[in-house]
Amino acid sequence: MPKSAADIARNEKLRQRLRFYEDLGLAPFYRDRNASSSQSTQSPPPPSAAVASPQPIEEALLPKSTPKLVPALPIDTPTKPVVSLPSSGPSLFDSATKLSSETLLQIRDDLGECTRCKLHSTRHTIVFGDGSRKARLVFVGEGPGADEDAQGLPFVGRAGKLLTQMIEAMGLERRDVYICNVVKCRPPGNRQPEPDEVAACSPFLFRQLDSIEPKVIVCLGATAFQTLLQTNRSISHYRGQWLDYRGYKMLPTYHPAYLLRNPAAKADVWKDLQKVMAELGLEVKKKAK
Ligand code: SF4
Repeated sequence: MPKSAADIARNEKLRQRLRFYEDLGLAPFYRDRNASSSQSTQSPPPPSAAVASPQPIEEALLPKSTPKLVPALPIDTPTKPVVSLPSSGPSLFDSATKLSSETLLQIRDDLGECTRCKLHSTRHTIVFGDGSRKARLVFVGEGPGADEDAQGLPFVGRAGKLLTQMIEAMGLERRDVYICNVVKCRPPGNRQPEPDEVAACSPFLFRQLDSIEPKVIVCLGATAFQTLLQTNRSISHYRGQWLDYRGYKMLPTYHPAYLLRNPAAKADVWKDLQKVMAELGLEVKKKAK
């Protein structure tokens, strides 16, 4: 019996999601719809893909040969918040109760084939995140572009290649860090995500950060900075400064896409990354090109 277009599309989505799990190093895994529905902490759409058993997932997600970062060096940087959160009004964090026992896979499973905002209608692939679940350094960008939408991985286009070079210049590899975005679906035409889209998607980012509990968060660009600090202030006043995001050390810097348009700003970003390296106890070996 010939397959319908809907069946083909569903199979393609499943195939892409399975590839996502494989990219995380999950194999083998199995499908358990009942377990999936009982684990959900929000009200997700019916799960449509595989759910792995907790123990094998934990083991499979361990980086295979990730070098250990040396202990952090003391640095002379402010640890108090520079930007205050609003004192009134609903907070996006209200929907992001700290659940550090959540695994990234559980959060991804809760996200499901998400239709929580209008970006779902134009995306090809949800771009959840990529890297080590035990990363001490997390990069947060704005949202997927065309390449990311096609491949299901964050920062794989031109800007992504530049980010990879920056990571390697720090003496790390991509698998040592975790990379994700404020919104998980590509905004049409690479426009900025709109407030309702950020509000719908960012709780998953907050949960990812709580799951990883990194030592340092680097915000790439204004959207990540403004979302984490819930502020409308310009990133330009705070770029390169240590800020506090709910107890995590956070440093905003320019987005790699901005650096592609303004190569002269690479020097500023490299200075920012050197601060991060000092915080992580990484030796400065070479300069970014
Ligand atoms: S951007 Fe986030 S909230 Fe919106 S549909 Fe995609 S995954 Fe869901």
